[in-house]
Amino acid sequence: MKKEFRFKIDVPKYIYPIGRGGEKFAEGLKKGELYAAYCEICDNYMMPPSAYCPRCFSEIKKYEKVTNAYLDLYTILWKDFEGKDLEEPIIYGFIRFEVDEEPVEGGLIHRLKVDDPSKMVLGVRVNPIFKPEEERRGTITDIEYFVIE
Ligand SMILES: [Zn+2]
Repeated sequence: MKKEFRFKIDVPKYIYPIGRGGEKFAEGLKKGELYAAYCEICDNYMMPPSAYCPRCFSEIKKYEKVTNAYLDLYTILWKDFEGKDLEEPIIYGFIRFEVDEEPVEGGLIHRLKVDDPSKMVLGVRVNPIFKPEEERRGTITDIEYFVIE
């Protein structure tokens, strides 16, 4: 026999600090730029940026603007959460970055806007399209989508 319980819980409002790495990332988004963290000890760039290196745990002291973005993986959604066909498919991609030709560890998952599906080749260069400056809030949704270069 299935029993159902319904109750209400009051959840206190809380503030989640995004940390120094997240702050640098958020500031960049507001300016229409993407920053990667750089660990001088590991000689390694990381995205999304953090305040400490996940490899050697040392403090990150340098954040660099990414110079190149590439499509590494993608998936196409044809249906919504209820299984209904979408009017237009939604494409999500895993975006990999470089700083001056140096690879960045990690990446971002974000929407892609593709006019010509034949251009969707793994490894193709992509560019972020940011919202107008006055609408940016320092969140990942400041990027509307990525487009194929
Ligand atoms: Zn390190």
